[in-house]
Amino acid sequence: MRGLDGKSAVVTGGASGIGRASSHRLAEEGTDVYVTDVDVDGGEETVRQINEENEDASGNAYFRELDVRDVDEFDAALAEADDELGSVDVLFNNAGIGEMQGFTETEPDHVDQLIDVNVKGVWNGCHAVFPIMEQQGSGSIVNTSSMAGWLPSNITTYGMTKAAVLHFTESVAPELGEYGIRINAICPGLIDTQMTRTWFSDEMREQAPMRTAFNRWGEPEEVAACVAFLASDDASYVTGRPIKVDAGYV
Ligand code: NAD
Repeated sequence: MRGLDGKSAVVTGGASGIGRASSHRLAEEGTDVYVTDVDVDGGEETVRQINEENEDASGNAYFRELDVRDVDEFDAALAEADDELGSVDVLFNNAGIGEMQGFTETEPDHVDQLIDVNVKGVWNGCHAVFPIMEQQGSGSIVNTSSMAGWLPSNITTYGMTKAAVLHFTESVAPELGEYGIRINAICPGLIDTQMTRTWFSDEMREQAPMRTAFNRWGEPEEVAACVAFLASDDASYVTGRPIKVDAGYV
């Protein structure tokens, strides 16, 4: 990918799944990666893997604990990343939570949690990175939505939060474009991670991919490739758009 070598990225939810795979991929593209998460052990493990095991990674990785729900903490983390790395060229707003629940099964408290992490976490990230990217006159933000934010699904409240991420991304793009900042979203489909392993019974795990063109689960690395593309200069004329990484899920 063009334009990632020598750059700096912040990844939220980098302790696991898509966030970990994307941290690896960005470091393989030569980008220094500031891995953040509430899971300290997992985040430090991602950094250790990148710095000590991944021979293809020419970028360095660093860890900082960050709860995306806290806007002040997010502002402080981004300011620190900017100080330590010299710039923040890419922000991957990836942290998210979800349960396999319909509307009638969901408690009001859980709705708050979903909105705080999945929606406000993304908003907070954009708030924190804006002054840095504004000063740079450039930057790329990638937000994590979901196929559940695109299509109606039985994970109702989770889907509502992911639809909000899509709407926000498309709406804010013209405003950020004035400052040379691109913002896009990815909509992963069925990706084999810790999150989805807790969602499906063995039988459902086998049946669910039949709705994809390849009849298989996706790997986090396959989402990471799209994140790297959107982060890179190869996507210089792409903003305000979602990319579905879902093997044609219907
Ligand atoms: P995952 O559970 O493996 O990773 C999520 C990470 O987010 C974890 O490391 C977790 O500790 C972190 N996190 C949770 N709450 C946080 C908070 N408040 N602050 C900071 N970090 C927090 O799951 P994943 O599948 O890799 O999910 C990554 C993103 O992709 C999520 O936004 C998820 O909704 C989205 N997504 C996943 C799939 C899929 O099939 N796996 C599909 C569509 C969308």
